[in-house]
Parts: sequence; C-alpha cells; structure tokens
Amino acid sequence: MSVLRGDITLCRVDAIVNAANGALKRGGGVDGAIHRAAGPDLQRELDGIGGCPTGECRISGAYGLPASRLIHCVGPVWRGGSAGEDEALAGCYRSALLLADRHGLATIAFPAISTGIYGFPPDRAARIAVDTVLDTLSGLPGIAEVRFVCFDEATAGLYRELLGA
Ligand code: ADP
Repeated sequence: MSVLRGDITLCRVDAIVNAANGALKRGGGVDGAIHRAAGPDLQRELDGIGGCPTGECRISGAYGLPASRLIHCVGPVWRGGSAGEDEALAGCYRSALLLADRHGLATIAFPAISTGIYGFPPDRAARIAVDTVLDTLSGLPGIAEVRFVCFDEATAGLYRELLGA
C-alpha cells in the first residue's frame, strides 16, 4: 500500500476507483474529474448499468483515462455515524478489491471515498480504508499494488500516519 498526493485521473494503474453516486450520474469532486477526463462515452456506459447500491461498486471502461478499467464505488453519505456508514464504506473498499481481482486487475488506485461532498470524517474514513484493504488483500494474492491517492495534503498525512510511511 502506498500514499500519493495528487490527481487520481493521472494515475497509470490497472483500475482507478471513482467515488460515484448511486445513480451513476456525473457529479462533482473526483467523479466530475473522472468524467471530464473520460469523455461522454463513460456516462453512456454507466446509463446502461443503471445504478449501484451504497457500499457496492460497478466496473466500466476507462476511456480517456490512463487505466484499463474504472471501478465506481458508491460511498455512504455521512449521517452522524450510526446509520451504517462505517460498514458501507468498508464495503466499498472490499468490493472494489474483489471486483478488481475477478477482472485480473493487479494495481488499483483509490480516492478518499465519501470524505468530500458526502461529509464522512476524513480520519475515520482513512482508518476504515486502510484496515479494510489490509484485511481484504490477505486473501487476494493477485492484487500487487494499492495506492491511496489524496487530493489534499491533510488527507495524505492521515494515510501516511496510518501506514507509517
Ligand atoms: P464523495 O461524494 O464520495 O464525498 P468527493 O469527490 O466529493 O466524493 O470527495 C472524495 C475525495 O476525493 C475528497 O478527499 C476530494 O478532495 C478528493 N478528490 C477530488 N478530486 C480528486 C481528484 N481529481 N483526484 C483525487 N482525489 C480527488
């Protein structure tokens, strides 16, 4: 696992993870950046999929991005912490890794799902991300690299602390 500060749309990995919404419709934040870089064909493919429940993910082509595939995770909206948000966020990371593995994608980049517009506390989200990835990776020898790509320095610092990096 590694931490990188920057723009996930520039990452050369097998799978770039998106923080999508349940309707799989173009939104803001990292989703907006991914759609901008991918071009309109991405939305056309996602319209064919229809939608995705919270805590789960769907796979698509990567179009204009330098990856093989995109994995669209629907993170939880923060509602105070007792509405199943932790479990849903863990579900995103776990299901994305399982899906990547099933498609033979060995390197994967995650943004800090739910910590922007969806309001999940970044420190709590980072802990769940690292714990879930660690836990899930032990059963997936085909996944060679997981990169946490943070847009801001404060979030990158949280991950570095957790990873001792
Ligand atoms: P959500 O709706 O799941 O909260 P956001 O896109 O609003 O998703 O925010 C999730 C995280 O992604 C935030 O930490 C935000 O700063 C970050 N982010 C926004 N744009 C990018 C980008 N281009 N690359 C990586 N991370 C990004």
